[in-house]
Amino acid sequence: MATAIVWFRRDLRVRDHPALRAALELHEQVVPVFFLDERLLHGRFASGNRTQFMLDSLRDLDDSLRERGGRLVVRRARPERGLVELARETGAGAVYLSRDVTPYARARGGGVAQALEGAGLELHALPGLSVVDDVTALRTKSGDRPYTVFSPFHRAWAGLERREVLQAPRKVELPEGIDPGAVPSLAELGLERDAAEQAPGGESAAKATLERFLDSRVDRYADDHDALGADRTSRLSPHIHFGTISPRSIEQRLSGGKGAEAFRRQLCWRDFYHHVIYHHPHNAREEFQQRFRGTSYYRDDGTDDDAFAAWCEGRTGYPLVDAGMRQLWREGWMHNRARLVVGSFLTKDLGIDWRRGERWFMRLLIDGDEANNNGNWQWIASVGTDPQPYFRRIYNPKLQMERHDPRGAYVRRHVPELGDVPDEYLREPWTMPEEVQREVGCHIGDDYPAPIVDHAEARREALDRYRTALGG
Ligand SMILES: Cc1cc2nc3c(=O)[nH]c(=O)nc-3n(C[C@H](O)[C@H](O)[C@H](O)COP(=O)(O)OP(=O)(O)OC[C@H]3O[C@@H](n4cnc5c(N)ncnc54)[C@H](O)[C@@H]3O)c2cc1C
Repeated sequence: MATAIVWFRRDLRVRDHPALRAALELHEQVVPVFFLDERLLHGRFASGNRTQFMLDSLRDLDDSLRERGGRLVVRRARPERGLVELARETGAGAVYLSRDVTPYARARGGGVAQALEGAGLELHALPGLSVVDDVTALRTKSGDRPYTVFSPFHRAWAGLERREVLQAPRKVELPEGIDPGAVPSLAELGLERDAAEQAPGGESAAKATLERFLDSRVDRYADDHDALGADRTSRLSPHIHFGTISPRSIEQRLSGGKGAEAFRRQLCWRDFYHHVIYHHPHNAREEFQQRFRGTSYYRDDGTDDDAFAAWCEGRTGYPLVDAGMRQLWREGWMHNRARLVVGSFLTKDLGIDWRRGERWFMRLLIDGDEANNNGNWQWIASVGTDPQPYFRRIYNPKLQMERHDPRGAYVRRHVPELGDVPDEYLREPWTMPEEVQREVGCHIGDDYPAPIVDHAEARREALDRYRTALGG
């Protein structure tokens, strides 16, 4: 068989791409294709920000393929139909792809597999989306069951063999006469971006982001990864999500040391949540912990729309919460520590269903990833795989700021109206005396909101709700 198709999805790169490599080794000509699928672009998790990042990445991938003599073929079609048509057009006999484990990818993959089989086309699924080749295969030592707790998963994961990292191909030859189409603009797809300052996508940007992290940040990662003001995490998450860099190739670049080890552990969290969603696909819609399903651990009295809007817009009156939410709006990304604080605030202080937070994040995050987002939202709502009891995950925004943004650099960056508030009032601006408010030009209730809930009271209510939900 002379020709094969490589179906790109969230593996938008030429380096360390096992499916591309396998297709090139076994076939003379390869047709790299990407389908713009309406069901994803305008579906449950539609996002202008993330689509923009994807379009950047597609353009960069097309450039890389052109440098190698090929092109990226871009089609607006459902892949189940588009692949069969493209195979007919090009005489291809096989389709190669990187194996994905999320519920949607699996459902769509099932339809595609059927269509290809019906058309007599071979389908080859290869690794490439996670650090280890098959995140689904790990099993507990005692019960031979999938893992639901991170630490033992991490131990087993760390001991698994790794595949070799692959170089980018030198040449990719496209069959003659194919119309590659073009990568459209965001507006052509009928979408708009919310974020004014989001990072660009693409394999070139991913490489630069990794180099910067390895040069100047990784050594201090163990100590610094929670320091909000310093902002020293890798910022690789959108690249890892779209596969503009392979997680395995990142791991391979890590040398030893405390920082590298702590970072490697974070990469494992991603593999863990992919393992979890594969084995528990119903998590996408409901609580992992059955005992919480259908209970009233969150308020559902229809009065929380104002509170939800205040949370989304970063005007809760709690500076760290507001800084996180405004960073999300402005950059389409938020520091992990802030994600934890805003997640705890939404689910515990405001008593709002975590699914609403999950959806808001998916609208805005350039790294929005079903497995990671769902896993982390369930974790912070205390209904997921986290073995800690609910009362351990109620974060106090003031104490979190004391610990992780002690000088207020993060808050001042994202909440400019608090810029001149003296340090001693920054964590609880409503305690500022009237004359200080006047002096610094920040009147609470006008220039910056008064707190929409009292944390101590909200905490007590959350504890009551969870306790009652568990029948205690
Ligand atoms: C409520 C909530 C929602 C989240 N939603 C997402 C999401 O949609 N997509 C996403 O990629 N991450 C999500 N995270 C996890 C984490 O916040 C981000 O991965 C991280 O902030 C990305 O920044 P970074 O690349 O600089 O991370 P680094 O600290 O540099 O970590 C390196 C990589 O490890 C992985 N990683 C790190 N922490 C986690 C984690 N807790 N869970 C899973 N993987 C992790 C990511 O791929 C990340 O890029 C969420 C966390 C919370 C608390």
